[in-house]
Amino acid sequence: MCGIFGVFGNEQAAAVTHLGLYSLQHRGQESAGIVSVDSDAVARGTRKMGLVGEGLSARELEALPGRIAIGHTRYSTAGSSTIENAQPVLARFKGGHIALAHNGNLTNAVEIRSKLEDSGSIFASTMDSEVIVHRLARADEGLPEHMLAQALNGVDGAYCLVVAIGETLLAARDPRGWRPLVVGRLGDGYVFASETCALDIVGATLLREVQPGEIIAVDGDGLRSFQAQPVRQLYRCVFEHVYFARPDSYVFGGSVDRARRALGHRLAEEAPAPGADLVFAVPDSSNAAALGFAERSGLPLELALIRNHYVGRTFIQPTQAGRDAKVKVKFNPVREVLAGKSVVMVDDSIVRGTTTKGLVALVRGAGAREVHMRVSSPPIIGPCYYGIDTPNREELIAANHTVEEIARLIGVDSLAYLSLDGMLGAVPGGPDGFCHACFSGNYPTPAPTLPVQLRHATKETVGV
Ligand code: 5GP
Ligand code: SF4
Ligand code: MG
Repeated sequence: MCGIFGVFGNEQAAAVTHLGLYSLQHRGQESAGIVSVDSDAVARGTRKMGLVGEGLSARELEALPGRIAIGHTRYSTAGSSTIENAQPVLARFKGGHIALAHNGNLTNAVEIRSKLEDSGSIFASTMDSEVIVHRLARADEGLPEHMLAQALNGVDGAYCLVVAIGETLLAARDPRGWRPLVVGRLGDGYVFASETCALDIVGATLLREVQPGEIIAVDGDGLRSFQAQPVRQLYRCVFEHVYFARPDSYVFGGSVDRARRALGHRLAEEAPAPGADLVFAVPDSSNAAALGFAERSGLPLELALIRNHYVGRTFIQPTQAGRDAKVKVKFNPVREVLAGKSVVMVDDSIVRGTTTKGLVALVRGAGAREVHMRVSSPPIIGPCYYGIDTPNREELIAANHTVEEIARLIGVDSLAYLSLDGMLGAVPGGPDGFCHACFSGNYPTPAPTLPVQLRHATKETVGV
């Protein structure tokens, strides 16, 4: 998964982008980058592994002049985690430069890439996004938005893009609307961002969503838009509302906070926990869902787990002391809250089950008498091919076990997930027009060929 940002018409374009990327950090922590374009249409870029605040220094930002900039935060889903695969991609072609930042996953990238390689293209990375750059370089000369439309024709899967060609800034969203992308106004200029929280931080006002299949171009003449591809059946990623986006954002036109609370309400209706003393969240991703559960069930919401915010998402264990140690670095239980109590632990999802198992052990170790787990989405039974880094089927606990078995494996007294209908009924703009493939097995596209090469295979993380 990734966060993308673009700005046109601001003297501090690179610094504005840098700020915007801070608010998109949750969408990708592996690398961050910015490309700016100056008034001579010269593009310069910097890309670093690590967090936005760690990698990009003030001096580097000063070396990125111009009124146009795009930025990216990356969590690899296609291609491995290396600096070659950091974005934005910056390439030179006969017409000048192309800079591109992509959020999503292309499902036919392998086929397109091998065709391009057959005709002589050389690739600098293993990212699926690079195929779009090659196709752009081969597009007929013309308006940049027409070149982009031509390049995207026949590209399948999920993409939101911000692209700089010459002195034009472009934004595009795939015709199924898989990933969120919005456009806002900042002074006389325009801003594009994956989530509205990135507009807030730079002081931009939200204009609207970039529509599925739409390409927007901004240049010295202002903003132009056209429907590059007809809108298809919408497949907006429901997991954005469940887990991925920030609760202070509006995605797909709806409030993420409201979505998560509604998921919590439904969960309390479908799977109450009578006799429990209190509810708590696994911070931070399930805070709003746990609040919703508490509101609807009438149980008090307590803060039973404290999360250490200074541990990176991919904390590397120095010794082989077991997974519990990994979880302990990130979470500590509050004994005062838990001792002797029957508790409801709410989380947004269970992926591998390893973090959850460790958490349940911590909660019991702090004296909880009974642990009832409630999950504000259905069991994840399949991988995502559209940009979220869920692992392969073999590693997904719910792909291989029944709910009863999972309850036993993670060590809870009871376990219940929200139903598919309950989830789709709770999210704003539902129940139709959402992708729920990882929950339902109902994949809207053929699975990508060579999915293992397309995806990083086994990156172990402690979910938060
Ligand atoms: P598990 O028990 O499966 O190891 O971890 C469950 C936790 O992972 C939940 O708290 C959930 O919020 C979090 N999670 C859900 N999706 C993802 C993801 O794509 N990446 C990471 N790192 N964590 C996730
Ligand atoms: Fe979102 Fe799941 Fe669909 Fe992937 S498969 S796009 S995570 S709903
Ligand atoms: Mg979590």
